[in-house]
Amino acid sequence: MLISPDRLQKVVEAVLMGGGSTAEEAEIVASHLVRANLTGHDSHGVGMVPAYVFIQHMDLLKPNTSVKLVQDDGAILRFDGGRGYGQVVAREAMDQTIARAKETGIALMSLANAHHIGRVGTYGEQALAAGMVSIHFVNVVDHSPLVAPFRGSDARFGTNPICIAVPGGNKTENILLDMATSKVALGKVRVAMNKGEQVAPGTLLDTTGAPTTDPSVMFEEPRGALLTIGDHKGYGLAFMAEVLAGVLTGGGTIQPGNERHNSIINHMLAIVIDPSRLGDRQWMASEVDAMVEYFKASPAQNADEPVLSPGDPERISEADRRANGIPIDDKTWSEIVEVAKANGVSAEQIEGIVG
Ligand code: NAD
Repeated sequence: MLISPDRLQKVVEAVLMGGGSTAEEAEIVASHLVRANLTGHDSHGVGMVPAYVFIQHMDLLKPNTSVKLVQDDGAILRFDGGRGYGQVVAREAMDQTIARAKETGIALMSLANAHHIGRVGTYGEQALAAGMVSIHFVNVVDHSPLVAPFRGSDARFGTNPICIAVPGGNKTENILLDMATSKVALGKVRVAMNKGEQVAPGTLLDTTGAPTTDPSVMFEEPRGALLTIGDHKGYGLAFMAEVLAGVLTGGGTIQPGNERHNSIINHMLAIVIDPSRLGDRQWMASEVDAMVEYFKASPAQNADEPVLSPGDPERISEADRRANGIPIDDKTWSEIVEVAKANGVSAEQIEGIVG
């Protein structure tokens, strides 16, 4: 089905309010998820709602929790997310960190113990909206590992995303790199399995540690493993995200001495920089314009695939999906309708919203 972003948002808000979230919280989480779908990241969109409801019913996700500032130390702000909705607590922590960076020029945010913060690019966009540069490192705990270390044969860490956001120039758009350090997200492997397709070679290991293109290895026990991007270099980035987000925030890493309850907890270390404290913004903007135009002028190897900037694919997807609606597959939709019922929202009420 194709559904308009507004209606999809209202459906998610109804499900979350059925679970006890305030209207404000439901609006923040739903708009984050719908924006993930709009930008083409269905793996982090409304398809997460069933998992959130399930985890909340296990009392491992605490609705209506605000972020707690546990240490205010000049340019360093340390926060605890208290297992609240990551979309809420990370946003609140970013708001405070951006305000601090406006005073100090640079601020370091340490956020531990947030439930799944979703699409990390959202927080880069928050910084960009304030004219800031931001750098984010995230790890994933309280969950079984999914990704194999380079040269290893089984999963030892999460999909550990990294995000870097830099304001665009006068003529060019904001630059937003937002990526998992695994070759693909687990959600994309599930989509391939549901469609009966194989994944690209170099994406997965099976349970014996041998390369495979069969997506089902990620949904059996014992489970296979995703591979990192870029061999040892991508592994190095994933490793450093684990250290920076897991150790420096105090939240903890995925090492097995830390308990795993089968929810999704993210820790995030973020640096917010006010670029105007580093020089002339006009010069920076014109330099970004010239640089981006230079890169994009490289003749495309394939005429249908021009050179893009990080962030362009999401803008292209958003324009398309705003115009044509967001595609939701049948399985995802039936799961959402099912968990809605568990939160006291009937299928008829959902149909009433969708129209
Ligand atoms: P992806 O591979 O689709 O894109 C990664 C980045 O590459 C994006 O910044 C995109 O703009 C850029 N890009 C893509 N094609 C490009 C091209 N041709 N030229 C230039 N740039 C290009 O994304 P992904 O790695 O699958 O990650 C998906 C989402 O999952 C992200 O939003 C990430 O934050 C999220 N995520 C979250 C968690 C979590 O625990 N919260 C974990 C992993 C991933």
